[in-house]
Amino acid sequence: MKYVLHICKNKKCNNGWIDKDLTNAKSAPPDWKYCRECAEKLGIDVDAQTPTSNLTPKELLYLEKKKEQARIMRERDKRKINSTVVNRG
Ligand SMILES: [Zn+2]
Repeated sequence: MKYVLHICKNKKCNNGWIDKDLTNAKSAPPDWKYCRECAEKLGIDVDAQTPTSNLTPKELLYLEKKKEQARIMRERDKRKINSTVVNRG
């Protein structure tokens, strides 16, 4: 398990801390998690947070759409590869 600098999801809170890297964060510090203080204020179990647990229904819908798009793109690529193989034969 890698560890990475997280920043609080609360934009008004500047807390940062080292936590498990659950999203393979590459550059920007992940900000999907509330810090311990904010989580307590919001009544969230700080350790129970997941990359999607703090999302609003709107954000979740957006994420689902993105996933669906990625899936369609993959299917399209597969079909392209298949048709190339078939055409050659
Ligand atoms: Zn915070």
